[in-house]
Amino acid sequence: MRKTHEKLINENSTRLDGRKSNQLRPIKIEVGTLSNADGSAYIEQGKNKILAAVYGPKELHPKHRALPDRALLICRYHMAPFSVQERKSPAPSRREIEISKVIREALEPSVFVEYYPRTSIDIFIEVLQADGGTRCSGITVASLALADAGIPMHDLVSACAAGKVDGQLVLDLNDIEDKEGEADLPLALMPNLNAITLIQMDGDLSINEFEQTLNLAKEGCKQIHALQKDALKAKYAAVKEVVEEK
Ligand code: UDP
Repeated sequence: MRKTHEKLINENSTRLDGRKSNQLRPIKIEVGTLSNADGSAYIEQGKNKILAAVYGPKELHPKHRALPDRALLICRYHMAPFSVQERKSPAPSRREIEISKVIREALEPSVFVEYYPRTSIDIFIEVLQADGGTRCSGITVASLALADAGIPMHDLVSACAAGKVDGQLVLDLNDIEDKEGEADLPLALMPNLNAITLIQMDGDLSINEFEQTLNLAKEGCKQIHALQKDALKAKYAAVKEVVEEK
């Protein structure tokens, strides 16, 4: 990757947004944001703002796409035209088609798809504002939308990237770190099962750096997993309060 920026990490080991190398961006998560979807969630991770909605399990059209032994997961990752600095065409790009596929594959192992043969589970991920690492934030928030839809799952999927910037290994790269850093390794994990469901890598790392970066990303996923569980509990605590008031 080409280096155009002077320095992304200063002499005090502080990144441009004030974080230390092993720090996540500030994360805010809400579950049940949308009333019309079967399940939904919203995440802010740094400047990323992403909404996820789930419909299903439901009858699949056209029927010939139905799988006799399990549900079909259908995933659409989409960036709003206003989500990036240069207006993006609303038409699906090659990048969005690829990211939709990798997100579906990252989520599918977490779902008991065999419980719902011949149905579909539709997952919509709308990026309202992007600042690097949207596939990971998208997986994190979509996993919560699946849980909110009441779909039985082995574990929540938590996702986070780690990489190399200015020669240092860092957690949760933002847009400029992603574009001007030396390497980026997005990871999705089911932390309770220690099962990786997505691993990609862009750039160069030695084997030793790769292992350290992987461990850093795993730690990030575990922290995100705790925040996901808190967000789910917060939704059901609020529902319980409303029920008790009635
Ligand atoms: N991006 C952009 N315009 C685009 C696509 C991406 O400005 O059409 C930015 C956006 O901030 C995104 C970042 O580039 O988060 C990195 O994109 P990448 O393809 O690496 O995926 P991500 O890191 O978001 O999963």
